[in-house]
Amino acid sequence: MSRTDALERTDAYFHDGSFRHELARRVAYRTESPALEQRPELYRYLGDELTPELEAMGFDCEIHHNPIPDGCPFLVARRHESDDAPTVMSYGHGDVVLGYDDQWRDGLSPWEIVVEGDRWYGRGTADNKGQHTINLAAMRHVLDVRGSLGFNTVLLFETGEETGSPGLEEFCAANADLFAADVFIASDGPRIQPDAPTIFMGSRGAFNFTMRLNLRDGGHHSGNWGGLLANPGVLLANALATMISPTGEILVDGWKAEAMSDTVRAAVAQLRVGGGGGGGGGGGEDSPMIDPNWGEPGMTAEERVFGTNTFEVLAYETGNPRNPVNAIPPSAVAHCHMRFVVGTEPDDLIPALRQHLDARGYEAIELDPSGVAMKATRLDPSHPWAQWAIASVGRTSGKEVAVIPNLGGSLPNEVFAGVLGLPTIWVPHSYAGCSQHAPNEHVLASTCQEALQIMTGLWWDLGAGDTPLA
Ligand SMILES: [Zn+2]
Repeated sequence: MSRTDALERTDAYFHDGSFRHELARRVAYRTESPALEQRPELYRYLGDELTPELEAMGFDCEIHHNPIPDGCPFLVARRHESDDAPTVMSYGHGDVVLGYDDQWRDGLSPWEIVVEGDRWYGRGTADNKGQHTINLAAMRHVLDVRGSLGFNTVLLFETGEETGSPGLEEFCAANADLFAADVFIASDGPRIQPDAPTIFMGSRGAFNFTMRLNLRDGGHHSGNWGGLLANPGVLLANALATMISPTGEILVDGWKAEAMSDTVRAAVAQLRVGGGGGGGGGGGEDSPMIDPNWGEPGMTAEERVFGTNTFEVLAYETGNPRNPVNAIPPSAVAHCHMRFVVGTEPDDLIPALRQHLDARGYEAIELDPSGVAMKATRLDPSHPWAQWAIASVGRTSGKEVAVIPNLGGSLPNEVFAGVLGLPTIWVPHSYAGCSQHAPNEHVLASTCQEALQIMTGLWWDLGAGDTPLA
């Protein structure tokens, strides 16, 4: 029995309708994690839907409560073959965002699959039920054909991803021994183009904070006090102008990204971000034109998204913009946001800005982080596991593989890369136009078919002995 036999088994599973049938059954679970009343459905998805399939494959399954009150449950499934074989950790999430049932186009429903040409509509088809259904089916077919996997497996399914993965980090940190592995391979998110096999190995971090300047209690008449009282709106705008140039270049010491390695730079050079309705890379039909003279100088558009840090003012307010009066406003506030790559630590961002502002006489501006920062992760494309995955995906698909050292957006990869210390390989099976998180979510059948092949090849190769561990 060979790799080809396993690939053929998976192709038959797609063509005889089994994949669609299995996915439709999973889509029918209303696993909306933002809706408290659907908590029992999350347990049913893990216990009634995933557990029987995994037990039939020889996994030991256990459902764990979330360490955080009201948090969503986890399923941990382990299958051990040999102490000498590699161990892979994989991950998926069984929850979805709200269905928004009445906003879907006529004839569509979030809870059943409707096929229109290459598109299969349904909530979770792309994010993430379709993706983990592909990965599990591929693993099952390798097991059927080979009789064993040739590797050990630990799977983690969470059901709170769409509410920001509360408790995921705590759960993994407290159970790190359960997740001891050699490599992490999982699927979520979009390919760079629908027909381009893609791997990404991390994501940029994200950090939000407010800058607030409160000078006095109330407003004061501009005719009597203008020229005598400092204006906080003007001061905060001037402070911002010292932090970012008129062309979007970051000016704060300690906020600049570290230079990319040559291998990261070379990988990013192969990617294309699109704007103005054409192109790809998350572009999509409604995408805006790219401003060529914005951002860090001397960088390509792709380097600006994947290879460096960005600072944004999300919202700014002084006085009352809905009802301006002739007065000097008492205060001003800016809601700010950063995305950053590996090498920049979120904990360093506020101290660096504090020093920058104090040195320029802006001691009175208060800085407060908002929400929880997401750390940046990245695996260099020259890492042996990245090279191994690129070779396997390329061999199965017969295509050039798009290699993204880190996504421009952010995801909780730090839990796997940082807390568990694993090399992380993500093989996404969706595309940017899939409407995840919106009405009319769908997957492309052609992409699913190819993804089933790619994952069967990947699991086959992992058990074939020719890995970085050998
Ligand atoms: Zn999502």
